[in-house]
Formats: sequence, structure tokens, C-alpha cells
Amino acid sequence: MPTADFQLNFLKRIQWLLESSSYTSTYKFALLMATANLAIESGVNDDRECSISYQQLAEQFIQLYWIQALPFSDQSSDSVLRQSSTTGQASVINSILNLQHKAKTNNLSIARTQNAKLWQSTIKDIASTIKRYPARYLQSAEDKVCREFLYTYNAKEKVITLKPGIAYCFTRFSKIINKLCQQYWTEFVRKNRHNQIYFSDDVDLQQFLFHQSRQSLKVLESILIDAQQGQCFYCHKVLKNNIEVDHFIPWSKYPVDTTHNFILTDHKCNNSKRDYLAEELFYEKWLKRNQQYGHTIEQEAKTIGFITNQQRSETISQWAYQIAVEHEDLVWSPKLSIKLRPINPGLLPKLRA
Ligand SMILES: [Zn+2]
Repeated sequence: MPTADFQLNFLKRIQWLLESSSYTSTYKFALLMATANLAIESGVNDDRECSISYQQLAEQFIQLYWIQALPFSDQSSDSVLRQSSTTGQASVINSILNLQHKAKTNNLSIARTQNAKLWQSTIKDIASTIKRYPARYLQSAEDKVCREFLYTYNAKEKVITLKPGIAYCFTRFSKIINKLCQQYWTEFVRKNRHNQIYFSDDVDLQQFLFHQSRQSLKVLESILIDAQQGQCFYCHKVLKNNIEVDHFIPWSKYPVDTTHNFILTDHKCNNSKRDYLAEELFYEKWLKRNQQYGHTIEQEAKTIGFITNQQRSETISQWAYQIAVEHEDLVWSPKLSIKLRPINPGLLPKLRA
């Protein structure tokens, strides 16, 4: 893995990038967040280089900007917040608005599935925007001097290739990168003079921009219930009117909904687990559930437009548990006598195997 010096340098440069590099839109933040997510999904766990396609980045951009392309104020349907400080709206937002308009829906799942051609052409547009702007300019400052520490930009390629050690750093620092980007992003949108008319002092802009993007999960209940024989995943009590859909790997650790990450719980367990990882035995139980029912879940989830990629969900879970061991985090148990305890370090060799 990269040396401590290398990792420290990475953080310093990310800080520089957020503070000093030039930008006229929110793309820079989206690109950093998207890259962190994709580095995790790639499963890189050492010094290796890591290639990320513009197409993958475009899918992440759509997820990030989808809710943000909805009207901000319910008083005015054209109150979509401006994400560019130059004239006009950021073109990624325009591409998404165009998709929402043509697909006649504000629902991302529906837009993704009902018209494959339209979806693909939107991906293509956004991929090309990412290549022309943020990917190209991310690492340069006002002085136009390029400081390419993440990747070497090449307009002819369909991918960006993260330099050795960079993907690893993204996976280890994804949480602070995400938090910082959200903060800078929110500030940028707030300061934009075109947006001022919508803001009162108490508006929680960050909440609007980043926390409502959770899809409605109710539809997943019927898909997941059979795989759990109608019982709470954690305490085995029979689920009746108290069913809740839980992110097995908490949303706060990995903020993208992937179908295999969902399980059903009762209110009590879900409420008590909050943002913790479940104890080790549930990790194994979850892997087994996906082995057994993963395919069925995938087939059914496809019809309602949820992202499904079992391999990807498992890579993300492995990353999350590995980080937890490295940080000696607490894990959650449904037993009231335990509730929280340190994670078992013996899990690590298993994860690496
Ligand atoms: Zn329970």
C-alpha cells in the first residue's frame, strides 16, 4: 500500500485542489466524489493504477445532480438552482432537465429504465462534458499550471487512469472527501447570485442538495421479504406493519443505493443500528443471502429501475468492513446486552482471502 508520506501528500493536495484550483461550476466537487465512489467499487486495495471510464463518471454525475435538477422552491417551477457562475446553467443540469422532460418523470429509476436510448444519449452527453471540462481542468489553478497528481489527462482516451496509489487513497479518505466536497459545493451554490432569491436564513441547503437523493425504498419490500422468510434480518421477529428498508452498509459510509445492499428490518433494529456496521455474523449472513437470492433480487429489481450489481455491492461491503477493522470501529448488535462493541480484528484475514 502507499506509504504514510504518500497518503499525507495526497490529502494536502486534495486540500489545495479544493481551496485553490479554479472553477466556475460545481463539477469539480462532483468529479472528486464520483472518483472516490468508483475507486471503492473497483476494489483496489493496494498501489495499483485504476482506470475509470467517462461513462461510469457520467452515471455518478446523474445520481449526484438528479435531485439538484428539481425546482428548489415549490413556488416556482423554474427555480432550479444555478450550478455555474458564468452565464447560463451548467450543461450537466441541462442534460438532466432534458432527460426529465423527455422521459416525463422526476423519478430516476423510471428514467433509467423506460427509454434505454434516451438514457444512453444522456450518459454520452454528460460523459463528453466531463471530459471537456472538469476532467481536463480539475488539477490546474488560476495560473493555468497543471499539477497532475491524480491522473494524466489525455483528451483522446475514454478513461482516466488514476496513478499508482491514488485509488487506494480515495478509498481510505472517501468520507472526508465527500464531506468536504459537499460543504464547498453547498457554499458555491449559496453564493451564486442567481440563487439568492430562493434563500432565507434558515434554509438547509445542504440537506436539499445531498440528503434527499435517497430513492423511495418502499417498493423493495415485496422483493426482499421472501429472502428473509418474513423476519427481521437482525432479530428474527416476524415483520408486520413495522417493516423498514435498511442499508446494510450504511448510507453515511457509501451514499449510493445498490439493491443488494438492502435488507428488511423492524423499526426497533433499524432505529438502533443507525450508521453503524452490523456485527460480523450478519456480514456473513448477508453474503449468504446474496449467494442464495441475489439473482432473484436482481431480476425483480431491474423491473423497477434500481441499480443492481451484486459484485459491486460485495466489493463495497468488503471495503467498509476492512476500513472498520483498520480503524478499530464499533459494530452494532441487536442484543440489548451488547449493542455496540469493537469489531473483531480476526475478520481481516478472511476479508483479504
Ligand atoms: Zn429486529
